Amino acid sequence: MTCPYCGQAMTPGTLVFDARCPAFFVADGEKLSLGDRISGKGRVDTRTSFWQGATMSGAYCDACRKLILDTQVHT
Ligand SMILES: [Zn+2]
Repeated sequence: MTCPYCGQAMTPGTLVFDARCPAFFVADGEKLSLGDRISGKGRVDTRTSFWQGATMSGAYCDACRKLILDTQVHT
C-alpha cells in the first residue's frame, strides 16, 4: 500500500491488543458513554482469537507516523 500522505511504500502488518478491552472510535467533541459501551456504538471491529487477542490488519508509514487500518466502526 502507498501512503496517501507522502506517497512512500507503507509496511503492511497487524495491530494486536488485549481482547478484553475493545477499541472504540469517538469523534471529536463527543464522549464515550457507558450506554455506548454496552450497546457497542463506536466499537471498532477486530478479529479475535484466544492466543492473539484482538487484531486488526493495516499498514504503517514510518515517515508520517500514520497507521491505516481495515475495520468498521459500529454506529
Ligand atoms: Zn507517509
